[in-house]
Amino acid sequence: MTDCIFCKIINRELPASIIHEDDHVIAFMDIQPVNPGHILVVPKIHKELIAELDTDLTSRMFNIAAKINLAIRKSPIQSEGINYFLADGEAAGQEVFHTHLHIFPRFRHDGFGLKFHESYTQLPKREELDEICGNIKLSME
Ligand code: 5GP
Ligand code: ZN
Repeated sequence: MTDCIFCKIINRELPASIIHEDDHVIAFMDIQPVNPGHILVVPKIHKELIAELDTDLTSRMFNIAAKINLAIRKSPIQSEGINYFLADGEAAGQEVFHTHLHIFPRFRHDGFGLKFHESYTQLPKREELDEICGNIKLSME
């Protein structure tokens, strides 16, 4: 894709701090980190959504993320925990439409968080969970 930032990084048309690269996957430092050590794991093929990748490529991405996870924990970077985050679609917060997995260190009082909407004070009833579960499960067949 000619106007995709991540394709440009892959093709060396834009600079990036690359932590891993193989034939299928690249990982580099996020330019606007949540916390120091924020890394993006990106398939080299241009696909917008994670489900468009074959399962082998998805596995490769998560295997690289696992290595990075361990490396962050061993490194001097401040990290009491690690978040994985993947925005799959614009409504989910995706801004770069070349699928990518965020991995970033977390520590107490770092100021980052995901929040529920305000009306979400009551847990759903079991019947409601079962109905939603059934609807999604049917679509998996
Ligand atoms: P999204 O919101 O799509 O899940 O995340 C896109 C991420 O890409 C953001 O965290 C943003 O900081 C990062 N990003 C955007 N442009 C660039 C860039 O040119 N270089 C790098 N390294 N990261 C970028
Ligand atoms: Zn791309």
